[in-house]
Amino acid sequence: MTMRYIDGFRSSAAAAALASRIRDSAARLQTDGRAVTLLEVCGTHPLAIARHGIRDLLPPNVSLVSGPGCPVCVTPPGYIDTAIALAERGITLATFGDMLHVPGSEATLCDCRAEGGRAEACYSPLDALRIAAERPREEVVFLAVGFETTTAPVVSLVPRAHAAGVENLSILTAFKLVPPALRALLDDPEIRIDAFLCPAHVSAIIGPEAYAPFSGPNGVPCVIAGFEPLDILLGLDGILRQLAGGQSRVENQYSRVVRPGGNPKARAVMDAHLRPTDAEWRGLGVIPHSGLTLRDEWSAFDAERRHGVPVLRGHIDETCRCGDVIKGKIRPPDCPLFGTVCDPDHALGPCMVSAEGACAAHFKYGLLETP
Ligand code: SF4
Repeated sequence: MTMRYIDGFRSSAAAAALASRIRDSAARLQTDGRAVTLLEVCGTHPLAIARHGIRDLLPPNVSLVSGPGCPVCVTPPGYIDTAIALAERGITLATFGDMLHVPGSEATLCDCRAEGGRAEACYSPLDALRIAAERPREEVVFLAVGFETTTAPVVSLVPRAHAAGVENLSILTAFKLVPPALRALLDDPEIRIDAFLCPAHVSAIIGPEAYAPFSGPNGVPCVIAGFEPLDILLGLDGILRQLAGGQSRVENQYSRVVRPGGNPKARAVMDAHLRPTDAEWRGLGVIPHSGLTLRDEWSAFDAERRHGVPVLRGHIDETCRCGDVIKGKIRPPDCPLFGTVCDPDHALGPCMVSAEGACAAHFKYGLLETP
């Protein structure tokens, strides 16, 4: 089916046609006795799927589980502990608002702020530059968290600060790369994934080719989809057709945004300022070469090196099952705390803190039952 702009990609007739094709493919799998599990890599997909009721269209032998694609959700507690340690030295933190509520080992940045720590919520990385320029006597650290989508605009802070002569700004990097996390999930014998519903915006940067190592004879279907209802249905249709036909290819169902080779300009900015490093992910542990840190020539802007506070290894509250949610091992309602003691007003884990977290999406749209 060719994707055209139809009623904002929400045509009910097109949706019905795609739902019918999805049912046909699922029926072919059912004939072979197959139930399949599809992983929503990106945090925005579960939110859009819940908002548009797409789960209700899926046959019982097709399960959707959430993945590690929400940057707030995969932020490990040690990163928050390090940010708190910086604030306790009198350093001003600048951060996107969600991060204020992510639990560290013992406390959140909100708790730190209540104790007198300075943590400012930002809408843009440029807010951090403004704060640093306005307060030259304060050291300011921006919490640089994100995937490939946001890495280039965030790291651009560094040359901008350099060019503007702003010398009191640095960044605490927690940039993460999606492909190494997909490899870790596929290699985990405890996790069963039959296909990846690949992210839209990340793919616009890294390009469809980045998923080639996960497809092919020993791989799984990898289908890139956008966030409108028909985009998602096209993605699910592509995955199920491949599974029913015994294929495992990379398929780009978001070609109006995702181009071969991705976004070379953004990647050039990333390459100029950053180098790969091992990174810790909440729930997944340390994954080799799954993060990016500042190159040595930009070390004056690296908060870890500038302030001599390396990112710590923290510990998590074992009662929160975010790690298992992120790995697709359980659905949020399987967590005994879901909707009882953990809700968006009293979030115990980042998957309930972030608007794109799987627990928050399930709670907001009333997906309370385990199928
Ligand atoms: Fe963690 Fe709350 Fe989600 Fe349970 S419902 S996994 S406690 S965020």
